[in-house]
Amino acid sequence: MKLERFVPYNTQSINEDDKKGVLEVLDSLFLTQGNKIKEFEDALKEYVNAKFAITFNSATSALFATFNIIKQKYENMENINIITSPITFVATTNMMLANGIKPKFCDVNFDGNINVEKIEALIDKNTVAICSVDYSGKSVDVKKIQNFAKKNNLLWISDSSHSLGGSFEDQKIGSLADINIFSFHAIKSITTGEGGAIITNNEEFNELALLLRSHGVIKNHDCNHECKYLGFNFRMNELSCAMGLSQLKRLNSFIERRNEIANFYDEIFRNNPFFFIPKIESNKISSRHLYYILLDRKFHCNKEKIINELLDFNVGVQVHYKPIYNFLLYKKFNFEILNNAEEFYRSTLSIPLHLQIDNKLAKKIADILLFVLEKY
Ligand SMILES: *Cc1c(COP(=O)(O)O)cnc(C)c1O
Repeated sequence: MKLERFVPYNTQSINEDDKKGVLEVLDSLFLTQGNKIKEFEDALKEYVNAKFAITFNSATSALFATFNIIKQKYENMENINIITSPITFVATTNMMLANGIKPKFCDVNFDGNINVEKIEALIDKNTVAICSVDYSGKSVDVKKIQNFAKKNNLLWISDSSHSLGGSFEDQKIGSLADINIFSFHAIKSITTGEGGAIITNNEEFNELALLLRSHGVIKNHDCNHECKYLGFNFRMNELSCAMGLSQLKRLNSFIERRNEIANFYDEIFRNNPFFFIPKIESNKISSRHLYYILLDRKFHCNKEKIINELLDFNVGVQVHYKPIYNFLLYKKFNFEILNNAEEFYRSTLSIPLHLQIDNKLAKKIADILLFVLEKY
């Protein structure tokens, strides 16, 4: 029953066009700061229907820039905080800490997304923003969170690292929050090797993001440059931009295939006695970055054993995510333990879903999963 080769939970899909784009750049005059960066940014903002797209060398640097912009916007306030979800990759909140901003963790729903109903109780006079995460590629409830942010005079930041290609009520994810962040890490919706982007409709945020990305230097035509801000080198190189351009053209086909595989799994797992499967509301399209199952309580005490057994079968499972407040780095803040986040962490398990999986392999993976759980 063991799979012939290890199948990771996620991996990239690279074709000849992607390679061609990269090779062309290698033969060109510029490996950085050439035309490809603008082409890729134009294509990105067109795809998500936004005014500005600023690429970065990772989503982590895009998040750093985002929180730095917020820090500057509220420079007269001390000890600002941002309300966010603990069920996310640690970069989301690490980059708040890197800017002297304190995360405040809000509990999640059964789909791993922030519970908007529980935000209000967490707001204090130092709260300036909400940072949501589209867990597994399914958007948060955009209307609810937009209305809530507006009513409470808070910025809405969306770490959309999982959800490029997804949509909410026919609007593409990426332009709906005040600042949206994408990741182009190898296993995200599209890849540039490493990479990320900020998408915004706000001119001021766009200008600051551009400055932070490139040393804070303003280039004048007469070669008399000026440095006004503390900036960095967070730029995406031309090779990555060429790859991103080519990958972006393939994005819709990626999302379609990912949904096909997810629906195929759904069909097999329907009415199984071991776990729940994620439900996607009819007004959303998920990018299906992750296919996660929620194990019934009776399996929680054996989860480690189950994981190891699945890995022995070459099924590359992974757990997304340990609630961030449980990490050593965060222990010193004495964050409150959140019930749903704990329950989610104990239940959730991501199984392989990517473009290298055909239906035959998906069936084998599903059979192995059911076989292993049957034993416990
Ligand atoms: C992948 C990811 C990041 C970090 O992305 P990088 O491009 O690897 O820096 C941040 N937040 C979330 C939710 C992610 O999934």
